[in-house]
Amino acid sequence: MVVPIFINFTIVLERVKSHKNRNIIMSILWGISILFCMSFPVSLGQNIRLDLRIVPLILGSLYGGFWSSIFLSILIIVYRLYSGVSIGFYNSVLVLLLTIPVILFFQRYFARSEKRKRVKIAIGLSLYYCFIGFIIFIILRGFSIDYAKIQIIQLIFGAIATWFFIVLYETIIEINQIRTELQNAEKLRVISELTSVFAHELRNPMQVTRGFLQLLNEPDLPKEKKEYIQISIEELDRANEIINDFLAFGKPVINNNERIEVGYQLQRVVKIIQSYSLSHNVQMITEILEDCWIYANAHKLNQSLINILKNAIESMPNGGIIWITCTSTEDGFIKITIKDQGIGMTKEQMDRLGYPFYSLKESGTGLGMMVSYQIVRSFKGEIQVKSEKDKGTEFIILLPQIN
Ligand code: ADP
Ligand code: MG
Repeated sequence: MVVPIFINFTIVLERVKSHKNRNIIMSILWGISILFCMSFPVSLGQNIRLDLRIVPLILGSLYGGFWSSIFLSILIIVYRLYSGVSIGFYNSVLVLLLTIPVILFFQRYFARSEKRKRVKIAIGLSLYYCFIGFIIFIILRGFSIDYAKIQIIQLIFGAIATWFFIVLYETIIEINQIRTELQNAEKLRVISELTSVFAHELRNPMQVTRGFLQLLNEPDLPKEKKEYIQISIEELDRANEIINDFLAFGKPVINNNERIEVGYQLQRVVKIIQSYSLSHNVQMITEILEDCWIYANAHKLNQSLINILKNAIESMPNGGIIWITCTSTEDGFIKITIKDQGIGMTKEQMDRLGYPFYSLKESGTGLGMMVSYQIVRSFKGEIQVKSEKDKGTEFIILLPQIN
């Protein structure tokens, strides 16, 4: 059981990039772990064997999802079959049939929970498994005091083992996350320091060049040359835009936050971006709850909303609809959602969102999302993304509400 966990964090997470392949490798490793557990059980008299196969089964299913869980169950059944069809075989199959649906039911919940809940879910499932095992045993072979004692030992031991391994797994995940977050923070710090120095210096010569280019653009110039000048000016403007994005990012965080009303800001942003959306054949539908107050900087909030809206518009080359809503949640957040019907993103693309220069567009800068994330984070909020390739994307911005 230690080996799969170890291999996962040292090799699989580092080397294997695709989610699917990771799952396959981990399922096989958990499978091997199950085979070992079943091969070296504690034998207690005839036909009574205790082992800890439940631990790799639970870990593999909870972290791997549906197919891992099916694979591991089939593996258990096939291996059990191989050692002969006895009453113990039916016992195993029945127990699996009654536990796997329950594990799968909790798996979805597990994936969304944080550490403490995950530990509880795993221990609960392990207890449930032993309990079902006990009931099935009584039904198949009758009640005996001795067996009840053994079962209690199994129950306690299984729960402790599950607890140990799930805590181990979760702790390593946590350490890993902190490490990557630190790396990212450091990267971003370096970028922002460098850029704020360079950006200002670059802007002045560019403005001068642009000015002279405009002067060169005389009416009697041949059409070709006029075009060259036009292109040069456009490219300079684009460079300027990139610098603006960078400056917004590199600016030291001055705490000039104030009470602002999100609905009003959203309406303003929609107005600003209206002409851009019309030219892309995109319609925006808003549903805004009044009186959503947050503590933030209106200018920055608008900038991040504009970035997200622009992306939504650009994701629909043939036009479409964007739904914009603003509501308050029960746990004290203002929830802004921006949903499009655009090209969507794959899981890998979503993971890279917000990193500098990550752009799939021909003339994209890959800075918009980075700035948006940073701004929302500076307001103690968070951005969630749901996306399906070729279906559309939904951005959810959560900001702490004030009264
Ligand atoms: P840019 O817009 O300059 O490419 P961004 O940081 O704004 O840079 O976005 C990064 C990338 O994320 C985009 O190139 C695009 O591939 C993807 N993306 C962002 N928003 C969406 C969306 N609503 N639908 C599909 N892809 C998106
Ligand atoms: Mg963008």
